[in-house]
Amino acid sequence: MDSRMTPLLEHNEQFARTYTPTPLGLPAAQVIIVTCLDHRVDPAITLGLKLGDAAVLRNAGGRVTQPVIEEVAYLAFLGQRISGGQLTDDKRVEVAVIHHTQCGTGFLADPGFRREASQATGVDEAALEASAVADPHATVSADVERLLTSPLLPPRMSVSGHVYDVETGRVTTVADARYP
Ligand SMILES: [Zn+2]
Repeated sequence: MDSRMTPLLEHNEQFARTYTPTPLGLPAAQVIIVTCLDHRVDPAITLGLKLGDAAVLRNAGGRVTQPVIEEVAYLAFLGQRISGGQLTDDKRVEVAVIHHTQCGTGFLADPGFRREASQATGVDEAALEASAVADPHATVSADVERLLTSPLLPPRMSVSGHVYDVETGRVTTVADARYP
């Protein structure tokens, strides 16, 4: 069957020819990025990340949901194990939450749209509301707080918040990196 993946797999064939594997270890940039799954905001491209640089968690809106918090907690545990014990200051990792303008989840701030989306998809209305990013500056600040106040946030992990502007391609820091 004709597959949309065909041209992408051809690209991968090129990629694999000159590929050098990266060993399992802490991400080189020592950053975990939480951002939206929107195809216009791929952080590898907007932030110039290379393979092995950063762990990236993406969902609708880039919201700090309970599953995201649990992923961060596990990544910190794994990082500690593979780096052989306690994470020293030079090995500390920062979680960077990046929301963006023109987010497709913005429509979900409207109750009528949300109800319609819930009825059409079967997704819980509260879950849809929780993923809404209508004002990225406000939601990114709220999500940084949520992560910083979570009992699951591992020690020695800082959190920062940023907004990506789809019009300009520029990332602006809204909440400077800080510890709980
Ligand atoms: Zn988005």
